[in-house]
Amino acid sequence: MERKTCDCVVIGSGIGGMCAAAKLAYSGYKTIVIEKLPMLGGRFTQIEYKGYQIPTAAWMILYGKNDPVYLTLNEVQAPEIETVSTGAIPQIYRLGGKDHKMEGKGALRDMISWASRDKEEEEKVMTALKRAILWYEPPDTITFHDWLLQYTESKTVRDLFQCLVAAWAGANSWEVTAGQWFRVLKGMTVGGNPFILKNGVKDVTDALEKVIKDNGSEIFTKTRAKKILIEEGFAKGIAADVKGEEMEIEAKIVISNAGPKRTIDLGGQENFDRAYLKEVEKKVRPAQGVDYMITSNEPLMGAPTVLFTADTRRLECFVGDCTPDGKYIVRTASVPESAMQYSPKEEYEVFLQDLKETFPDFDKCGGKILVARNFCGDWPFYGTWPGDCLTQKTPIENLYNVGDAVIPGGWVGGSGAAASAAVVVDDIKARVKPV
Ligand SMILES: Cc1cc2nc3c(=O)[nH]c(=O)nc-3n(C[C@H](O)[C@H](O)[C@H](O)COP(=O)(O)OP(=O)(O)OC[C@H]3O[C@@H](n4cnc5c(N)ncnc54)[C@H](O)[C@@H]3O)c2cc1C
Repeated sequence: MERKTCDCVVIGSGIGGMCAAAKLAYSGYKTIVIEKLPMLGGRFTQIEYKGYQIPTAAWMILYGKNDPVYLTLNEVQAPEIETVSTGAIPQIYRLGGKDHKMEGKGALRDMISWASRDKEEEEKVMTALKRAILWYEPPDTITFHDWLLQYTESKTVRDLFQCLVAAWAGANSWEVTAGQWFRVLKGMTVGGNPFILKNGVKDVTDALEKVIKDNGSEIFTKTRAKKILIEEGFAKGIAADVKGEEMEIEAKIVISNAGPKRTIDLGGQENFDRAYLKEVEKKVRPAQGVDYMITSNEPLMGAPTVLFTADTRRLECFVGDCTPDGKYIVRTASVPESAMQYSPKEEYEVFLQDLKETFPDFDKCGGKILVARNFCGDWPFYGTWPGDCLTQKTPIENLYNVGDAVIPGGWVGGSGAAASAAVVVDDIKARVKPV
């Protein structure tokens, strides 16, 4: 059996694992990343399919230059990454039969003003929102939809928020609690404008890989963690399987990017505090949904533009883009009526109707559905519902989780996973010195 020793071992190379490893390696901690798949990046990279680059999930830097992913790249002096647009991507909301552009500072107020029936309604909604953001965050006892109903009966205002909630939280306004949504909304207010990368998000994963290796740390693909080694409440390392051979990695710190439930399985349930097990059981439930990629010879919509459609059967978030070979591509994520329970087949039928209504010239433009994918289970939209925070520390000393199931504050997605890595690395730096 091969044996290795390091300061920190990271299980999984999702964006949370890669950001943590790059920061640690850059700070002088000898780090080993192991990934069970042949490729790095998890849901934050891309693969080639029929000549197109298909993201494994993420494709945007959600919070622009304030994004934890972007900040990590800067901090570890990663190679520069080319962006398509560092400015705001135009965001169009199709509500009440009309398109409305959301742009610049004060955009949310403009949208509410536009959607409200009169000034009194606009003020009532704005005052309630401000109070919930700046003074008293509503608890998780009611859904955001029910919370909003206290302040407006306008369907257009409620549709506007359904667009925002479903697009950012990956679940509907009638499912997400008021507390969860306000935590996400607060995150949105500190973030910058989203942007797209010229060659896709794989550039980010590649850049982090380079930082890790250039700083003397190691990465193993096709290597699966089989066990987290725990002695008297302390994590001591891991046992892994490398192409059928056993490897044991002794480490001062173990970071799992495999999701809190798998972390518990790897460490053995009996080693974890019961309160923690209950917390994980309650909070770790994935946000799920269906994602499509559509190609066309003529543009279906502006590129790059985001179009949110509240008037369709499902919230669709269409994003137009161009391919290097002059074709047009539209990506969309569709949030089912119940993010907990749905039939992907039925959702597909519903999507086809939404698609025809949104783009009546679909056939004329040579539109084709390239990919339809159901993101659920171990490969979801998000590992847990945004705004539902679980701590990164586990009851096992020196064992942390990173990733989109342990996001701090109101960040979401890959950005949130990178934010969890920042929390973990700060804690490690304060407690443990590199050898
Ligand atoms: C359609 C869609 C669009 C999205 N768009 C965006 C976007 O534009 N921007 C954004 O920021 N986010 C977006 N997200 C969310 C984003 O993709 C995820 O939140 C993020 O990538 C999750 O990263 P993670 O760190 O949790 O790791 P994961 O991606 O979950 O990776 C975990 C890794 O661990 C590995 N692993 C698991 N178990 C083991 C084991 N036992 N041994 C070794 N390795 C193991 C897995 O193979 C995997 O590679 C989107 C999601 C979807 C579905």
